[in-house]
Amino acid sequence: MPETVPCLSCGGARAHREPHLERFLALAAPLRLARCGDCGFRFQSPRSDLDELEGRYLASDFYAEAHPVRAAHYDDFYSHRYQLLARWTPRPGRLLGVACLDGGYQYAPLAALGWRAEVFEFIRPLAEECRRVVGADVRVSRGWDPSCMVGEPYDAAASISLEHVPDPRGLLARVRRLVRDGAPLVLDVPYQLGSLKDLTKYPLRRLLGERGFHPLFKRNENEFHLSFFDPPRLRAMLADTGWRVVHFETYQPRHPLYLSNPRARWLQEAIYRVGGWFERGPSMEVVALADGAPAP
Ligand SMILES: [Zn+2]
Repeated sequence: MPETVPCLSCGGARAHREPHLERFLALAAPLRLARCGDCGFRFQSPRSDLDELEGRYLASDFYAEAHPVRAAHYDDFYSHRYQLLARWTPRPGRLLGVACLDGGYQYAPLAALGWRAEVFEFIRPLAEECRRVVGADVRVSRGWDPSCMVGEPYDAAASISLEHVPDPRGLLARVRRLVRDGAPLVLDVPYQLGSLKDLTKYPLRRLLGERGFHPLFKRNENEFHLSFFDPPRLRAMLADTGWRVVHFETYQPRHPLYLSNPRARWLQEAIYRVGGWFERGPSMEVVALADGAPAP
């Protein structure tokens, strides 16, 4: 059953639709884009309930079986990212992996850096892929509920899936309570609807219409994105849940997830780089430290 939900950031019940952005995202009824009337956060509502959401993942070409975009190893890119951890941790330890919707390939370089990843994931084939290819300890948990991750506090946490989870604010607060004080959290969250990439595509989409636009640009599966973050609202959610941001970049050179078009990679990279100069690159790479009070 589709469910209407309150704002995922502030809990407010007042929201309005932005039909032009819904079309841009290719969200199909009954899924809708809502913008909170109190804080401006954009999120999906109505959206699939957990049973429907699981069914959508299991029916998706991209998520339900091995996919070349995921299956290409991104060791260099993610290895470089996880080397960032050394700036804020005295030594490698246990890392809490928040979901593995990429099949867990991002976690592959951690072992070489001395880290041990323990991961939780809702979608069973992706959990199995992560176990198989990365050898990580992966637990399946409904709706990405982290209750199954118990024991000593973790030394770090990481996720590239925050936009997929039903309650990102609640999850950030719970991850805060699962790590030791001062531990770093590494996030990669797409910056949709305000990055230079989207600001470039948006008028083109209007100009060319559906039939002219989609042969030129791949169709993103936005029905899987339940939150649409921008820099101020991501920073605010982290601060509210006990995290202090110490690193924030919206442009990462040669980000593998954003170089999808082999004929126009140079153009994609140029748009991302220029966007990054104004904090409008395609995705937000964040490191935040667990040194605020955990949210209740
Ligand atoms: Zn709100």
